[in-house]
Amino acid sequence: MIWRIPHPEFRTPNGEARRNFLKLAAALIADYFLPRRLLARGSSVKPAYRAIVVTFGGGARYQDTFAPEGWVNIPHLVNDLLPQAIFYPSARNEGLTGHFNSSAALLTGNWQFVDSFGSEPPATPTFFEYLRKERHLPVEETWVIATNKSFSLIGGSHGRDYGVPYAANVILPKQLLLEAIQSAVGSPQGPGVEDRESFLKTMLSALDEGYENYGWQVYDSGRKLSQELRQSLAQSLLDYFNDPSVPSSGDELTFFMTKEIMNRFAPSLMLVNFWDIDIAHYGSYSLYLQAIRRTDRLVWELWQYAQSLPAYRDRTLMIVIPEVGRDGDIHGNGFANHRSGDDSCRRVWLLALGAGVPKGTASERPVHHIDVAPTVAQLLGFKMPGCDGKPLVELAI
Ligand SMILES: [Zn+2]
Repeated sequence: MIWRIPHPEFRTPNGEARRNFLKLAAALIADYFLPRRLLARGSSVKPAYRAIVVTFGGGARYQDTFAPEGWVNIPHLVNDLLPQAIFYPSARNEGLTGHFNSSAALLTGNWQFVDSFGSEPPATPTFFEYLRKERHLPVEETWVIATNKSFSLIGGSHGRDYGVPYAANVILPKQLLLEAIQSAVGSPQGPGVEDRESFLKTMLSALDEGYENYGWQVYDSGRKLSQELRQSLAQSLLDYFNDPSVPSSGDELTFFMTKEIMNRFAPSLMLVNFWDIDIAHYGSYSLYLQAIRRTDRLVWELWQYAQSLPAYRDRTLMIVIPEVGRDGDIHGNGFANHRSGDDSCRRVWLLALGAGVPKGTASERPVHHIDVAPTVAQLLGFKMPGCDGKPLVELAI
């Protein structure tokens, strides 16, 4: 495969150039998966409906979002989406309050108790596996697009008769970019960067808005991006990042990648993992709120984008839920972490939009993360035996 990178128009140092670049990067990465589209057709039956599950973004407290004092942080959810949605103010995480396990609960309909750092897949089959197996669907029908770098194994379980052959494609756009940068900077015949070391440092700091160090381990999901693609991406990345005004949000890249994938494959089922809010672990309340506001905007833009595509318009259910709240300890740093398991950490909300949703309604009935997968299964018309959650009965499915 040969990649042509049309650099020059991306050199303009302005916001538009940055967004153009992100689009290009998303297109390139998606291209890698294109050949898969030619595989495994035959007897597959695509569902009439689509579903998009969105994690609100690394975990936010109720008081910083849907409590009246939090509305200022989520103007699009409150003003633009709520009138079209059904809102559940009492959603609770009754499992482990880490990112991997709570997101895996959304996908499996069971509380998960696997390694919090992503070294193990979910313990029970995901809705991706049930859907693909029952409908004989190819892999590009199901995607996880994740900002969280520990999610490479979340697309499928090791469940008997399920697992890898039926798992979703998982793509970690931000991680891919970081690797591409490192690969370019480390290559002797790379682009003419005068001070590679300091350049690398700048790039990594620009991209890394998470709280962990750079030296993380990404577990091999069995699907690696080709060296060729990485090199091509790296070339355009270097040009792009020569613009000092850059700094990028991982979630914005996830958003661009999601749009690219929707446009190319119109997948029936996706998990979009926004995660930038987890910057709260740094202890900066203002960065935390800034990330909530950005996630609010991205969720709104994602919904608008879905409505702009014939493959999604009027046939898509979108469910938005924070995977966790955050600690409520007023004597400690409260918002920063989510490991106390207190009420503030478990209490979230759920917003559902689109197919089957009675618009502008709310239900105070307590719901849970594990109710998401069976709801999606009911809409898309496949079975999830062994699922502990219950479909959201308020939806007309
Ligand atoms: Zn966290």
